[in-house]
Parts: sequence; structure tokens; C-alpha cells
Amino acid sequence: MPAVVPARAPATEFSAERAMEHIRAIAQEPHPVGSPENARVRAYIISQLEEMGLSPEVQQTTALIPGRGNVQASTVYNVMARIPGTKPSRAMLLDAHYDSMPMTPGASDCGSCVARLLETARALQADPPLQNDVILLFTDDEELGPMAGAAAFVEQHAWINEIGLVLGFEGIGRTGPSIMFETGPNSGIALSGVPQTKA
Ligand SMILES: [Zn+2]
Repeated sequence: MPAVVPARAPATEFSAERAMEHIRAIAQEPHPVGSPENARVRAYIISQLEEMGLSPEVQQTTALIPGRGNVQASTVYNVMARIPGTKPSRAMLLDAHYDSMPMTPGASDCGSCVARLLETARALQADPPLQNDVILLFTDDEELGPMAGAAAFVEQHAWINEIGLVLGFEGIGRTGPSIMFETGPNSGIALSGVPQTKA
């Protein structure tokens, strides 16, 4: 694993020490979907994005998740923001869920993912703009839905049609290396940076 980059690192670098401050702010209490603490975490994410000069939006909607012989409905609040590129074609989506399970403050799952996105966005804002737009998506109700917030974004939000690559972050486990898992077809590009030829 790479060494922890301290908070005094240049603004253009990703610093795990800076990201850790977000985890401390987020993981104070359990914050499952629909709870007051969930709303507090959401407000924190929005305020952090605004501080970076971004214009976050909230997708408030009802997500429907088919079960075995029933359908679960969930009111979700997805937070998203867009970092505009200089000559955009397809956008890159960075995704993390901000809700926790009901019995844990969710530092790892997935305060760590939210912190990763916030620190990444801050570093990107300090750098010259990229060519393509970067969309930051903080989904609600991953845990109990399951994945109700993500489903609502995919099924109901117009931005889904503009996306060329999705990098979804998840906090499974709490030690060991970070690995790529649950990939989609042709996702080797995310490892090598070189487009795969068609199999
Ligand atoms: Zn998770």
C-alpha cells in the first residue's frame, strides 16, 4: 500500500490525512436512510462540495426495489456535483454511498468512500481542469435498499446517459490492500489506462 500522504502535502495531491478528517466528521453516529443523522451527513457533504466551489444538487425521489414477491419503496436523497471538463465527451462517474447500517457509525462502510471522493474532488479543483467532466455521486440507502439510491440514479436521472466510465468505491473489510472487484465488461481500461480490444 502507498504511504499515507500527510495533510501538509501540496493541494493538488490526494492526502489520506486530509481524507481522515471527513471520516471523523461523518462517522459520529449510525446514519441509516431516513434518519436525522443521515440528513446531517448529507448536509456535511453538501457544505464540503460548496466550499470547493462546486454546485451540488440533491435528487430526492422514491426508489423501488423488487424483492421476492414484493417491492420495497424507499425515499432517497442522492447528492451529486459535476466538475466540468475543458472539452467533454463522456463523463467519468465517481460513486460512493453515504448511508450506514443502523448499528454502526460506518467509518469504513462507507465514510471512507465518501472521504475518498471529497478529497479527490478537492485535489481536482486545485489542479487544471481535466478534459472530461467528472461527476461525483453520493448515493443514499445502499445498505437497506439495497442499493436503492444507486438504482434511483440509474433509472431516473438524466446524467446516466452521459457517462463513459464508472468508478464505484465500497468499504468491504477494514484492513489489507485496496483492490478492484465486481467489475463490468471491458473494465480492464480502469487498470491499464489502455482501451481493450473487443474479445
Ligand atoms: Zn457499503
